[in-house]
Order: sequence, then structure tokens, then C-alpha cells
Amino acid sequence: MQIGNYKITTIESGMFKLDGGAMFGVIPKVLWNKTNPADENNQIDMGLRTLLLESDKRKILIDTGIGHKFDDKKEKMFGIDHTKFAIDSQLAKHGISTDDITDVFLTHLHFDHAGGNTYLDQGEIKATFKNAVYHVDKFHFEWAIKPSRRDRASFLKENFDVLIKNGQLNLFDGGHQKQLFKNTEIIKVHGHTPHQCLLKIMDDKNTVLFCADLIPTASHVPLPYIMGYDLNPLQTLSEKEIILEEAFEKNWILFYEHDPKIEASTIIKTQRNDFKSDKIIQFS
Ligand SMILES: [Zn+2]
Repeated sequence: MQIGNYKITTIESGMFKLDGGAMFGVIPKVLWNKTNPADENNQIDMGLRTLLLESDKRKILIDTGIGHKFDDKKEKMFGIDHTKFAIDSQLAKHGISTDDITDVFLTHLHFDHAGGNTYLDQGEIKATFKNAVYHVDKFHFEWAIKPSRRDRASFLKENFDVLIKNGQLNLFDGGHQKQLFKNTEIIKVHGHTPHQCLLKIMDDKNTVLFCADLIPTASHVPLPYIMGYDLNPLQTLSEKEIILEEAFEKNWILFYEHDPKIEASTIIKTQRNDFKSDKIIQFS
């Protein structure tokens, strides 16, 4: 797909698993288990999908997946699977090396979004994209280095410390600076984690919204389907209402970072004044 100057390509960076109950909050298992079947540990399959925007001048990657730095115990706990997909091999399929990436836009710093920022090279942590500027909202960054006891397991310093040391981190103010790149716009949301930044990519014809953890899978489009992980679920609810209403009216394409199968779709409004995923879209 082409939007404005950008060629848009889905880059699958791997698969992992999370607890199905935690992923669907107050929704009963009898409902979510139909679309997202749980395994013997009650875990469901999750994608780790990133998006590549290529123009003449830039190669921008949105989020970096979970990465390869976990030990065997953690890899097993999260069912991390890179047998089919890894970020470097998937980029290589499109003729791109990690060194070609000019910008990494991070929606937030949870380990399943920022884990691929860095890698282990003989015990030393290095930047995966050594020529890139990594962009993170400065207020989110402040939260990430001083999280609460409820969410501190989600923020791992090894995913961003070396970027600070290298001078590769650009801390922007997403509340005021809405446009880091041409044909894009930052939408800030706070229900999942403070100052999460979604990225809208648009031209006259099409709009794609990188939903990150506001709407992690196509199953999370309906309004009450909100993750138990969210710090402020009622805020997520009102953020979803506003964004989904506009997405429906303007026929946006929603991109789902964690859906195990559906990378993107449009949405429709239901008779109950709610929303659901409609036409499946594939970028690659
Ligand atoms: Zn998250």
C-alpha cells in the first residue's frame, strides 16, 4: 500500500503468548475463547507486528517487537517464538537491513513494543538499528523510568538505556508536536499507559491508524473489550469511543499490532451503537 510518500509494509517480528483473561479484562472467557482460543495455560496467541514506512529519504519503523534478550525461562513463560518471524529476516525479505532504518517510532516502552530496540552481542547490549533515531514521547519516558508497582514489570531498562548513552533517543512532546514525519499525526492516549502515542498515516485517499495497545487485536474493537493490563480502563473506553467513531465515519484502516492473524481492517457500527472489525486489509 502507498500512502503519500510512503510505501507501507507489515513486518512480523515474531509471536508470543499472554494470559487470555488479562487480555480481555471483564469479558467472560466463554465469549473471547471463541475468537482467541486459550491453550492449556489459559494463554492466547499474540502477534508482534511492526510497520515499515519507506520514502525516498526515510525508512521509519513503528515499534520493534519483543526482541531476543530474554532468558530461556522468560521465553517459555511468554511463549516467545521466532521460528517463523524475526525483525531482521523479515526486513531482509524486503531488501532492507537493520542499518538502513533511519527512524524508530515507539508508541510506548512496554517490553513487547520496545524489546527489539536492542540486542545482546556477546553479553553487551547494543542498539539494533545503529543509524536510527529512536523517537519516544518525553512524558511517557518519564513514566517508564519511574513506573508504578502495578506496571513496572513491563518496562525494562535494557530496552532503552543504551539508546540514551548513544545519543540515539529523541524525546518529543506528542501533546504539542503532532507531526514528526510528513503525512503522519500523533494521537496521544493514556488509558493503557500514560502518554501512549498512536500514529496515523494519511493522504487524500487513505488513513491507516497504528492502534498499538489501544486496540491490540481485531477482537478488541468492540468498546467493552479492554485489557485487564490497562491502568485506567474507563479512560481507554472514552478514548476508544472518540477514535472509533471517527475511524468509522472516515473509513480508516486500523492496524493491529498483536492480532495473531488479522493485520488490519476497517470497522462497522453495530445495531447496539458499538463497533466491530469488518473488511480485512493486507499490506503485504
Ligand atoms: Zn502496552
